[in-house]
Amino acid sequence: MIKYYSADYILPVSSDPIKNGIVAVTGTGEIARVYDGDNHDLQGKNVEYRKGIIVPGFVNSHCHLELSHLRGKIEKSQGLIAFIKQVLAKRADSEKAIEQAAREADEEMFKNGIIAVGDICNNNSSLPVKKKSKIHYHSYIELLGFNPDKAKEIFESGLELEEKLDTLKSSIVPHAAYSVSKELLRLISSSSSENKNLLTVHNQETEEENKFFRYKTGQFVEFYKNIGVNIDYFKPQARNSIQSILPLLPANQSIMLVHNIYTSLKDIYFIRRFGRDVTWCFCPNANLYIEDRLPKVEMFLFGDFNITLGTDSLASNDGLCMLSELKTLAKFCPSIPLTKTLAWATLNGAKFLRIDDLFGSIEKGKKPGLNLINNMDGLKLTSESTVTKLI
Ligand SMILES: [Zn+2]
Repeated sequence: MIKYYSADYILPVSSDPIKNGIVAVTGTGEIARVYDGDNHDLQGKNVEYRKGIIVPGFVNSHCHLELSHLRGKIEKSQGLIAFIKQVLAKRADSEKAIEQAAREADEEMFKNGIIAVGDICNNNSSLPVKKKSKIHYHSYIELLGFNPDKAKEIFESGLELEEKLDTLKSSIVPHAAYSVSKELLRLISSSSSENKNLLTVHNQETEEENKFFRYKTGQFVEFYKNIGVNIDYFKPQARNSIQSILPLLPANQSIMLVHNIYTSLKDIYFIRRFGRDVTWCFCPNANLYIEDRLPKVEMFLFGDFNITLGTDSLASNDGLCMLSELKTLAKFCPSIPLTKTLAWATLNGAKFLRIDDLFGSIEKGKKPGLNLINNMDGLKLTSESTVTKLI
């Protein structure tokens, strides 16, 4: 049975907004047709009209479901290194508590209209939740270790975890430039050189990362000393972190760089010259939570880069809600229209995960889910805007 949904605007994302448009959806959630506002013959049909805009289900490009039990436990605005120390100190908890928090976070995302998630995991604690979830997950098995002697052992533990993921989609990825040895990076790269992997890496979330790579100074040197990891072998690279590690990643691979708060224009030019398939992922609320600062988002708008949005984890966010991320962008980057940022929160994330045949836009044949956003000012979000999942 076909249901008809209508609102002030339909934003299909793959095409222009349609004023008073109507979306016809089958019982299985498949888009049967998208109608123009006035040019249709749906007399006698039961069309549900709502105030606000209808958008496709959201794709959260960066999350750590397994850190959900840290909600409200990490102090804000302390900077990344203090954040990492707090996560390490507070992360341990009972299996039951971790799984329960992950389940609640998964339900929260579903309720907030998220239909697909790129989710980082360091262990198998979030797997039972992801296996039963109504949300589509791609799990990034994240490896870290700056000691080159341990690279092989760490990589093998990643392969073991990948087996446990069973039918869940997954790929093995490096954590960040400052936490992965070249040897480990090479192993990850060689395992993903056939282009069946999806790579992602936390990038330039703190200026300390650049300092460490340029001059081998700053808080990371101190950090490694404190945790007893010998980094004598590591030499200053005289360039920013991303310029040092990008050449070590496989050439034929899609790579999502997450955060990019301290990415410079020079870094962007470098990446462009290098010709890699790079997607930028921003997590605005997490950036404000940890570093109290946002990336220079407007700087990334040239050059046809794919841009996506993520929530990061509940360790660094008050909620897992893509609308909240869009509202933060609307507040701090008002020159970028919602029609653009909405693609970051939907279709672009689906494209990166290679699930855009089903998700990310309101198009015939897809099953993207539908969200209603109300309290709009035309096509602009307001601080009062809320999201309701329609299907
Ligand atoms: Zn993260």
